[in-house]
Amino acid sequence: VTVAELLASGEQLPEPVKGDVLDELRGVLEHAATAAAGNAGWTAAEPLRLTKTSVTWLIRCPRRAVTPGVDGMGRDIALGAVVDAATKVATIRRLDPDDQATAVSAALGWLEVDGDGTAAWLGTLPADERASFMADAADRVGRMLAGWPSLDPSWWPRVDEWVRVHLGGGSISVSGKVDAAFGGPPTARPGVLVEVKGGVWRDEHRGDAHLYGLLAGLRDGRAPAAVATVCAGDGRVNVEQIRPAVLESAVLRITEAMGEAERLGHGEVPDANPGPYCVTCPALPDCPEGRRETA
Ligand code: SF4
Repeated sequence: VTVAELLASGEQLPEPVKGDVLDELRGVLEHAATAAAGNAGWTAAEPLRLTKTSVTWLIRCPRRAVTPGVDGMGRDIALGAVVDAATKVATIRRLDPDDQATAVSAALGWLEVDGDGTAAWLGTLPADERASFMADAADRVGRMLAGWPSLDPSWWPRVDEWVRVHLGGGSISVSGKVDAAFGGPPTARPGVLVEVKGGVWRDEHRGDAHLYGLLAGLRDGRAPAAVATVCAGDGRVNVEQIRPAVLESAVLRITEAMGEAERLGHGEVPDANPGPYCVTCPALPDCPEGRRETA
């Protein structure tokens, strides 16, 4: 299914979760947040700020969760940025899927205005590498645009939409920024959120989609009907229909992450939990468990 097909099938999307179900889930989160913040000392002035990335790593490998990321630009990051930007441009003005060169150039323009380093990085590449990058970017952008919906104001298309919930009197916040959003309150359309990835589908993207569904639901009092993840690397579009069980699993992940953050807040040494993801971990050089995993 493409995003365009998903919106066209709007009538068949599940009835949005709302009312008591969302109230109950908020209650569970509030209870856990108040207890964790009381124990760890987070306050509205000095809150714990969770994102989809920190939630993932607190659960998966706490040691990585406390390891600072490494800033940098490389081919994969730049490809992801171009696809992501092309999606945003296509959400607010028409881009011809058959004219990929124009679409890539519009995406690079968007990134430049955004202050992203992609265009500057591209300028450092030798001509042949730059040409190969542009060809790859055009392929991925073309694949993504082929399934992108045409502009329809009744779906109220938006980009870079923040979804955020404050818990425990503001002592914990959980937030994320959705690449593209369609419908939802105040429109009469079902809400559909879209995450765009420059690479290939990975199962862990499902947890991110569930988290966005929950945060948008708690913000609006009505959950989106679906969260789609578009992967330009392999063309896969994964659609998560946002049902109560999906929201419950997002609540469980957040409470688990808060519990782990609370333990770390007490000075506990973060556990290492090695896995296939160790190869890209910035802590790898100093992590014996990770080095064993990748040996
Ligand atoms: S190398 Fe692996 S085990 Fe070590 S911190 Fe990173 S992800 Fe965790």
